[in-house]
Parts: sequence; structure tokens; C-alpha cells
Amino acid sequence: MTAQNPSSAAPSFPSATILGYPRIGRRRELKKAVEAYWAGASTAAELQAAAEQIQAATLARLTGLGLTERSSVPGTFSLYDQVLDTAVALGAVPARFGALHDADGTLGVDAYFTLARGNAEQQPLEMTKWFDSNYHYLVPEIGPETSFSLSSERVVEDFAFAKAQGTLTRPYLVGPVTFLLLSKASDEAPADFAPLSRLDDVLPVYAELLEKLAAAGAEWVQLDEPALVADLDTPALEVSDAVERAYAALTAPAARPQILLSAPYGGLGAQSAAVAATGVEAVALDLFKGALPSDAELAGFAGKTLVAGVVDGHNIWRNDLAASAAKLDALRAAGAEHGFAVAVSTSTSTIHVPHDVEEETQLDAGLRSWLAFADQKVREVATLAAYLADPASAQAALDEATRVIASRAQAPGVRRPEVRERTGALTAADFSRSDYAVRAAAQDAVLNLPPLPTTTIGSFPQTADVRGARARLNRGAIDAAEYERLMKDEIKRVVDLQEELGFDVLVHGEPERNDMVQYFAENLDGFDVTVHGWVQSYGSRCTRPSILWGDVSRAAGPSILWGDASTGAPITVPWAAYAQSLTEKPLKGMLTGPVTILAWSFVRDDQPLAETANQVALALRDEITDLEDAGIKIIQVDEPALRELLPLRRADQAAYLDWSVKSFRLATAGARDATQVHTHLCYSEFGVIIDAIDGLDADVTSIEAARSRMEVVNDLEAHGFGRGVGPGVYDIHSPRVPSQAEVEELLETAVKHVPARQLWVNPDCGLKTRGYAETEASLRNLVEAAKVARAAL
Ligand code: GLN
Ligand code: ZN
Repeated sequence: MTAQNPSSAAPSFPSATILGYPRIGRRRELKKAVEAYWAGASTAAELQAAAEQIQAATLARLTGLGLTERSSVPGTFSLYDQVLDTAVALGAVPARFGALHDADGTLGVDAYFTLARGNAEQQPLEMTKWFDSNYHYLVPEIGPETSFSLSSERVVEDFAFAKAQGTLTRPYLVGPVTFLLLSKASDEAPADFAPLSRLDDVLPVYAELLEKLAAAGAEWVQLDEPALVADLDTPALEVSDAVERAYAALTAPAARPQILLSAPYGGLGAQSAAVAATGVEAVALDLFKGALPSDAELAGFAGKTLVAGVVDGHNIWRNDLAASAAKLDALRAAGAEHGFAVAVSTSTSTIHVPHDVEEETQLDAGLRSWLAFADQKVREVATLAAYLADPASAQAALDEATRVIASRAQAPGVRRPEVRERTGALTAADFSRSDYAVRAAAQDAVLNLPPLPTTTIGSFPQTADVRGARARLNRGAIDAAEYERLMKDEIKRVVDLQEELGFDVLVHGEPERNDMVQYFAENLDGFDVTVHGWVQSYGSRCTRPSILWGDVSRAAGPSILWGDASTGAPITVPWAAYAQSLTEKPLKGMLTGPVTILAWSFVRDDQPLAETANQVALALRDEITDLEDAGIKIIQVDEPALRELLPLRRADQAAYLDWSVKSFRLATAGARDATQVHTHLCYSEFGVIIDAIDGLDADVTSIEAARSRMEVVNDLEAHGFGRGVGPGVYDIHSPRVPSQAEVEELLETAVKHVPARQLWVNPDCGLKTRGYAETEASLRNLVEAAKVARAAL
């Protein structure tokens, strides 16, 4: 395929852009609007009006920040998810939902939300992580039976709306190759079916949509192809072939907008040649995470515009403008030689960062000056585009960024000698415990547990009362003493309930935690939290990641409520000790692991993650010692995020698994032999990480298994997993109460594959999102089923 010659009249690509902008709204207006609609408190017209208001505000904001050229504002608004938007545009409704199309062949807003949220009969589309971000998309289900037809023109309507407001946007769609690679086979599909085999069937629908966009006046469209930067199961050659076929078809028609193919989240690697060979007019490369392409690779982009993603869209640090300018200089020189133009962009959509640093007035001014949220990133790309046009005009801004970054390196708290001495003095011995057999014997002697011990994963339902008490504390309506009393009441209730139900190992229920990461961030030095820094996690759900900016250790007391210790006050000990004082049974101390704390925060970019992880690990290690001293005999360190930080490229995975496993071991290896260390992971698709999970060397590992009907025990058996393991027997993701017989059945399956002396009985995950009624009933069935299974051993 040779590049089409865009006619000389074709508008060139704007000099500065971003690949996407947060759509939740500065005050989470979208969340409020869709949740009101779901609750029946507003009409479809009101929802549409709210969506238009958010889009209008975004247009005004982005043009105000400097995206004034045509097609520089990306049309990335979505009511829920961009993958769902594309699926709905293509009409890809799984057969299991029956007929969702309206009589005129379109999928309306209710059909859209049915796919996202399910209905009385059908589970929603599955949700999974979008590349290595914390954003979750809905997984389309594609089979040989899926019929594709243009079923929603929302992207055209949004374009027309923006145009009427005076802005010519660049509409966005998930590209066809990525769309199919991210899809899963439908229930109807044969075992060997690959969604990518339907490529030729989706292309006409894409082409039809592009034609409509052109007719509406769109000059450029963005087709997002992040799947090209990841090593997926599909062989690279098949992916290249799909790229060639897809873009040959999409660039062939005369009536179409020019195409920007974006490839965020990493380097194109082996797909670079295939992308270069397409006839698309522009390619956006992630030059923040991905390396600058080689000269030979760059030569392939002749005739196109190379959109240089030099400003990180995925983290919150102010850009090193001088370093970015140096990359742009290199590209400009290569472009002059090989005949391609250069434009400036973010490396990814800015959907991963909050709107605006200026909102965070409570943050230290120094820290604030180091940060760039979405709005600041827009200014950065505009500055760098100005640099490309006239280097001298941007010099002052480059110098200012250089100065701020240098001041950050020198700022108090960023590098603390006492923290660095500790990490610098670590030896191999700090990363390992005694042999498992020795530990197991010591633990058995202390704990005296029955076979198939029962426990939970940590949190109990966070009631409105509990959340209300925290809100009142934050408002100053109650004092710390009153809050402590309320939390202790709740802990007592939870402990009493577990006693009554007959659990063997108890938990305190985590009522005092707003979030399993933020709670620790608030009690560790080196972190700060934001007030308005919400980031979309999925649909209307947002998280507010903490900012890890400095060297980490436990903060000096008082940590939230107590701790007159002069340094490194305990974070969880008083709650755990109080809970343990209420029962003779062992009570698990509950900590969040270093990898998960990193994964769910914005992490400093001035040192390797491994180093930061070790600092967090040492803080947790101190906490474990204090928990032991307070009489806690079992300590769980949750690492649900271990798998999600797994690099997209296979070549990078071993190094990641090495440091992440080591950080867990560093956190836990100070535990005494007799202290039983547990870990919890939220999933059971172990794949390549099963060795790593084994490498954590936890005495007991709890995992999700109920939804997959205990499939995981086959993997555990095949792997020869030799330590304690608790495959979940109660799916906590829905309010459904599992019957005792159901739990018994799962346990029967488990004991066939895993030696009974290794097995634990527990739910899939924590219970904080559940209500008490269903939780109590489910846990009762779980404990009774364990008794039956125990008697049958
Ligand atoms: N201990 C945590 C809880 O029970 C674990 C949550 C998680 O794995 N995401 O809530
Ligand atoms: Zn979990």
C-alpha cells in the first residue's frame, strides 16, 4: 500500500494537540448527570443537556488554553466508555441481550447503558483494564454471528455540536484493529474463534462513519490503536497484516477526513513498519514512554505528519520542556531529511490525570509547581509547538521548567538521608524468611487452627453511618475522640458478628479506611492527597489517587488519631490491637502492599519504581513489627494490583516481576517465623505471574475463584503450589447470596486438587461494597459449608 497523496488543499495537522481530555467534568458533573438518569431522577433530554454543557465547557477551556487551530481539540467526550461508544457505533450487541436496536436500526442511550450495566437477565459487558492504566473499558463480545451496522452517530452529533459552538474538533474512535483485539469471543463463538477474523466486516461500518464525519465537515479523525504497542496473544505478523488491510480499506475512499492513527502507552516496536506503510496522513507516537524511533523507522513516515507525544499524559509531573525540545529538534531534523512534518502532543489521552492543578490550593506551593494536570499539559504542548515554530519564543518557558525541576530535586523531603541509608544498606537476607516448613510448624503451634480454616478478606460493609462519621470528622462536626469511639463501636460489632458466625480467623473490618491506598498515603511521609483530583476509573466511578512525591517512611505521630511516638507512628496497630482485645480467636492485621500503593497513586518519576517500592516496603515492615509487638499473629498484605502493573511488552515483564516480588518480600520478611503472613489478590487469571505469586512466599494466598467456578485450583495443582491458599467461594461482586450447597460444591472441587491441609475458606474479596443483610446470610452459609467439608475430610 502506498501513501495516498493528500491533495495540496488538505488542511495540515494542527501544530499542537492532546490525544484526549478528561470527560467526567471538573466537578464530576458527568457522574452526577448519569447517576441521576440511572436513578430515574432525570430524563434523557436532561442527560443530553448535561452532556452538552460538559462538552461546551471543555471546548471553551481547551481553546482558552491554546488549542485554537482547527482539529486540535480532540472529540473524546463519552457518556461512559470509548470502547463501548465504538461497539455501539458498529452495532456490536451480543446476542444474549436480545434485540436492543430501536425500530430505525439505532442503539439509543438506554441500549447503551444496558450494555454497560446489565439488566435483570443479563450481566453487563465484562470490564477490564485499559492497557497499563487504571482506566477500565467494557469488553465487546464478538462472534461469527455478530452483525455490524452503523447504529449510533453520536460521534457525528458531538462533532456537529462542537462545530455549532465554533470549534472544529477531531472526532475520536477506537481503531478497528484495537477494537477487535480487545474484544472477546462471544458465547456463540466456536472455541478457536478470534474476533480479529471479523475485520473485513467492521471496516465498511467504519468507512460509512468516516464518510458521514467528512460530510459534517470533519477535516481530521483520530483512530486510536494502542493495541499496537502491547504484546498480545495474537502474533505480531497477524497484527501487522490486520493494520495493512484495515488502513488500506479506510484510506481508499475519496470522501473521508484525514486520519490520525494514535499509538499511545509505549513504542510501536515491530508494528512501526506496518503503520508507516499505511496511507494515514498522521501518526501519533508515545515518545514519553516509547523511545525515539531509529532513523530507518523515521524514514518510513515520509509524507505523513508525525505527532510527537512528548508530554506524558499518564502521570502528573511537570514536563521537562528542554528535554522534550531536544526530542523535537531530533525529529525536525529527521523530518527535513525524510520528508515528514512534526507536531506536538501528549503521549496518551489526559483522561488519566485530573483537570487542573490550580484547583489544589491546599497543596504546598512548591509541590504544586512541580505538577501538571490535564490543563497544564495543554499549555505545555502549546509551548512546545511554539518552540518548534520559533525556538527563541519559548526559551523563557523552557528555562522556567528547568528551574522548577531542579528546585524539586533539592526540596526538603524529596531525598531524605535516613530513608536512603536504610534502602542502601539492604542485603539479600532482608528479603527472605526461614524455610516454609519451619514457619508452618511455628505457626501451627501458635494458631491451632482447624483444617479448612474460615476467614474473610478484610473489609466489612462500609455503612452510611461509617462514611457519615468520617464526613463529619472532616467537616469538624465531630472531634477525633468521638470518631474513634464510633469506629470502635463498628469494630466491636464486626468482631461480635464473626464470633457469632463462627469464623476461625477474624478481621477488624477496616471501617476507618476511606480507601485501601489513600488511607496509607495519608499516614506516610512523602505523600500528599488532592481535593479535586478525581480521575475516571470506569463509567461514573472515579478515584482520587494520592501523590507520592518524596522519600517514604511512616509519618511521625499523631497519625490521624493517635501516636505520641516521636517518629514513625504506627498506622493500623491501635485498631487491630483493639479488635484483638475483643476476641480469643486470632485477628488478622491488614495492610496494603507496596506494589498496590504505587499502582493506585501518582508516583514520582525521578527514580526507578523499584527504589520507591522498597521505601514503601520498609515502612510496611516497620508496621508489621509493631503489629507483632501488639500481639497480632496473622498479618495480611494485599497486593491486588500486582498483575496490573505488568508491562505491555513481554521483554519488560521479568524485570518488573523481579522488583515487585522483592518489594513484597522486603515488606514481609521481617516477620517472625510464628507470624503467619497472608496476601490477597483480586483475580485468578495468573498466567505468566503464577511463579511471581509463588515467589511472594506468603504463608497463605487468597484469590478470586467463585466466579470462575474454582477453575483456578487446576492451575494451582499443575503448578504444585505448596503453601496455604484460599480460593474464594463467595462472589462478592453481586448482592446474590450463595447457598450453603453451592459453597460445599466449590469446596468439594477444591479439595480434589489442592491438599486439604493447604486450603482456606474465604470470600473472593473484601465486603466493603456489600450490604449487611446479604453479607451476613452469605457468610453464614460459608461457615456452615466449611463445617460440612471439614467433617467429610
Ligand atoms: N483487605 C481489602 C478489603 O477487604 C482488600 C481489597 C482488595 O483486594 N481490593 O477490602
Ligand atoms: Zn480483592
